[in-house]
Amino acid sequence: MEQSAANKPAIEGGTPVRKTKIYYGHQYIDDADVQAVTEVLKYADLTCGPKIKELEEKLCALTGAKYAVVCSNGTAALHMAAKAAGVGEGDEVITTPITFAASANCALYCGARPVFADIDPETYNIDPQKIEEAVTERTKAVVAVDYTGQSVDLDPILKICREHNLMLIEDGAHVIGTKYKGKANGSISDMTTFSFHPVKTVTGGEGGAVLTNDETLYQKLLLYRSHGITRDTGLMEHDSDGAWYYEQVELGFNYRMTDIQAALIISQLDKLAMFRKRRKEIVARYNEAFSKIPSLFVQKEIPESDTTRHLYILRIVPKKLTIDRKQFFEALAAENVCCNVHYIPTYYFPYYEKLGYKRGLCPNAEKLYEEIMSLPLYYSMTDEDVESVIEAVTKIAIYYAAE
Ligand SMILES: *Cc1c(COP(=O)(O)O)cnc(C)c1O
Repeated sequence: MEQSAANKPAIEGGTPVRKTKIYYGHQYIDDADVQAVTEVLKYADLTCGPKIKELEEKLCALTGAKYAVVCSNGTAALHMAAKAAGVGEGDEVITTPITFAASANCALYCGARPVFADIDPETYNIDPQKIEEAVTERTKAVVAVDYTGQSVDLDPILKICREHNLMLIEDGAHVIGTKYKGKANGSISDMTTFSFHPVKTVTGGEGGAVLTNDETLYQKLLLYRSHGITRDTGLMEHDSDGAWYYEQVELGFNYRMTDIQAALIISQLDKLAMFRKRRKEIVARYNEAFSKIPSLFVQKEIPESDTTRHLYILRIVPKKLTIDRKQFFEALAAENVCCNVHYIPTYYFPYYEKLGYKRGLCPNAEKLYEEIMSLPLYYSMTDEDVESVIEAVTKIAIYYAAE
């Protein structure tokens, strides 16, 4: 190996590929977004106003779903969806460990037990076969996560759910803009949840949504969003006392979204096609560069999913390198390429350990966790940013290649 300054990793005293730090994700806010928020602050209701309906209609138009209920965040969306699915005390909910904690926590909120099913080792999404194996008579629902924005293989999962009478909740926090067999994700599962956190493809600061085609689920979600309170006389048990009258008919929450967030999300959705195009370009460029490097494994894409990628996962092949993931991650940071890791298997967390979960449950997920880091992927990355990330990864992979 030549030891010139150009190909010596910064962590070994070489020159960093980038002068400034780049992070794995960043929101993109333009003047139209600022104006949309400013206008709602000046002229409209700050909550329960017209922007909420407008956003819900826009999400339905975007996905083809019949109903949308927007809410305070993606976690609230999952909680409401699990409750609407009828998940309760003593039930089991099957999900993947390679996700944000909220995907399993929604079962715990309802008094149910999350059951972890392993992932496919190449797509990293939950393996339908492993779902089937995990079903018991207590299973009530499946929370399937479209990890990185690639759709889970919905058809086999739906088949299992229909056979065993399970509700399919799709955790679509990463999936906005993706299509499965030509249909937008959000219109296919019993319920699909979205998140509008700033690292996601479209943001409202915070925000979430549940999409469904089922009117009964929709009515439940509306109630849960706002304390279980209704002003609809058709849903009331007593006669109305007057114009002020409302009833609490369920135990709900305050999971409402503000009109300020809704206005921002509406404006952001106008840029979704643009976001999608740029994300696809960056992913294609990364895939092209990394597929040539034997010590890197490129995530498998299934032809059924036309993917808008939320995360780009760099995966190392440990036996082809002299360093491990932690060292690779630190070497990239020294080049000023600041990654993250998505995700630590949920059942590794102390809270889950105390509930009795043990390591070894999902070997594919555990192996994945040892080998991955999330590279920068967001709309406003320049071509130079993308090339500098590729240069940094390549430099490290070549320098530390095993014989
Ligand atoms: C972000 C995320 C959530 C939670 O969304 P919030 O809006 O942050 O509450 C849930 N599941 C997955 C897979 C996520 O990435």
